[in-house]
Amino acid sequence: MGLVHQEFIEAPSVYVCLGCKAHIARRDDVISRTFQGRLGRAYLTESVVNEKLGTHEDRLLMTGMHTVCNLQCRICDALIGWKYIHAHDRSQQYKEGRYVLEQSRIFSLDQTTPEKLATPDAPLSLLPSQESGDMAIC
Ligand SMILES: [Zn+2]
Repeated sequence: MGLVHQEFIEAPSVYVCLGCKAHIARRDDVISRTFQGRLGRAYLTESVVNEKLGTHEDRLLMTGMHTVCNLQCRICDALIGWKYIHAHDRSQQYKEGRYVLEQSRIFSLDQTTPEKLATPDAPLSLLPSQESGDMAIC
């Protein structure tokens, strides 16, 4: 394999891959922090970089049938979430084209103070919990 092109996000705060610290998403682009991933809590975000997408597959999630594809880190191949391609249920179509990031596979990096990591997100207990997000049934 040759060199893999790596993108860098210029933003005060970014989410990076847990395994290789490649930039993944701009923290400001996160739409929801109350999603349920396959590995626990997850984020819904507008756009990502350094991504590698798998093949489309239909997956039955808590909120219905969706066509999704796996989202991997292009640099180290770690599985970090999935992308919504198509939601079969109309009420879920706002998720199309967006990405779910597993919270346990990324961490927040504050680029304004490069010497230390950003403080964790707001206490989860303060966030609304009624949105159950998606968890694969099978
Ligand atoms: Zn990585």
